[in-house]
Amino acid sequence: MIGGHVSAAGGVMKAFENAHAIGANFIQIFSQSPRAWKSQMVSDEEAAYFKRELANQTNGLKGLVIHASYLINLASSDRDIFAKSQHALIDNLESAEKLGARGVVLHVGSHKGSGLESSMDGIVSSLLRALKSVDGSCEIFLENTAGQGGSIGVNFEELARIIDAVGSSKIGVCLDTQHLFASGVSYSTIEEADAVIQQFSMILGIGRLGCVHLNDSKTALGSLRDRHENLGEGLIGANALSNLMSHPDLNGVPVILETPGDSKGPRKRDVELARKLIGEGRSRRGL
Ligand SMILES: [Zn+2]
Repeated sequence: MIGGHVSAAGGVMKAFENAHAIGANFIQIFSQSPRAWKSQMVSDEEAAYFKRELANQTNGLKGLVIHASYLINLASSDRDIFAKSQHALIDNLESAEKLGARGVVLHVGSHKGSGLESSMDGIVSSLLRALKSVDGSCEIFLENTAGQGGSIGVNFEELARIIDAVGSSKIGVCLDTQHLFASGVSYSTIEEADAVIQQFSMILGIGRLGCVHLNDSKTALGSLRDRHENLGEGLIGANALSNLMSHPDLNGVPVILETPGDSKGPRKRDVELARKLIGEGRSRRGL
């Protein structure tokens, strides 16, 4: 499954067309404006359309995830922002459930230097509350971060602490290759790539991996900066991405491009390149 983050401007039905145009069989969308608090609930008509397309696998569509609003900060010490974050997470999860999405990809937030410990209670209670208030099978996938400004999830241990404290089967991880690299993790060789997946398995459990964000990086290893680049055009490079993505444990895990393209997001050739990279890695591994 190779997907792309696509625009849902003009309605979620548009997202389906946009994904088909770039040859993606998996979709990631925002269910509301990612930089506004105002929620936009998915209509019954849109939900029915999406569920039907998914069930029929029209144009090969295998599934979708929702990317939660960027404003959400479950670690905020500001009561107003914290309350808005809790509501926004519930709204996003509700929309995702209605559309038949596998999960909501979430950046947990930032402790702004005070450390994860001080914000653990708020994070855990918010996640539990969201999972409790929305019935269904849709999960929350916590995304690893580049680590800028105290963003939570800079390593597998931080994600594991939250996941263990929540203690729900409906919580998983979205692994972003650019954030991983920017946080200081190298996978330039097959051995290094294998070590990354081994660490993931030991600390989080590979079964928690809900999806991968496949992006190259505009910024250097350990830069702690979240800046995506087109595959093969950044500082990670095609070879390293291929090493990581061809790991057999990633088989069947949805892969989503969030690359800039020509400023409008992933293009058809980016999706094709992703397939090619994974295929080449598998050949090198003798798979
Ligand atoms: Zn991402």
